[in-house]
Amino acid sequence: MNITEIRITPADGREKSLVAYCSLTLDDCFAVHDLRVLQKRERLFVAMPCRKRMVPCPDCAAKNIVHARYCNFCGSTLADRSRDEFAERRLYVDVAHPVKESFRNELEHAILSKCASIQSFVNGIE
Ligand SMILES: [Zn+2]
Repeated sequence: MNITEIRITPADGREKSLVAYCSLTLDDCFAVHDLRVLQKRERLFVAMPCRKRMVPCPDCAAKNIVHARYCNFCGSTLADRSRDEFAERRLYVDVAHPVKESFRNELEHAILSKCASIQSFVNGIE
């Protein structure tokens, strides 16, 4: 599988660790949006597109974000997950991601190389 296009959009600086957004195209036929380039402890890495994890309301089955105390649709009290370590770690779930580590490394290298080639981007993170 070839990465045939990478588009980088520098972040506006409102979120401290967010450096840029990225969209890419695979084999000229499949596009993936909302990848994010993040910086933590001087290291840049690529986060896959993700969404907040949802849990169903026991009364109406509507989906609510995992840490919601009350259902957004019927107002029922939801289970307290504040001490749920799994819920804490899995607040977000990837909606698309590489299956093989080798492709993840290839993807990350390609995206970070593209970022490094954009002069204004490089100046912004130094
Ligand atoms: Zn409900």
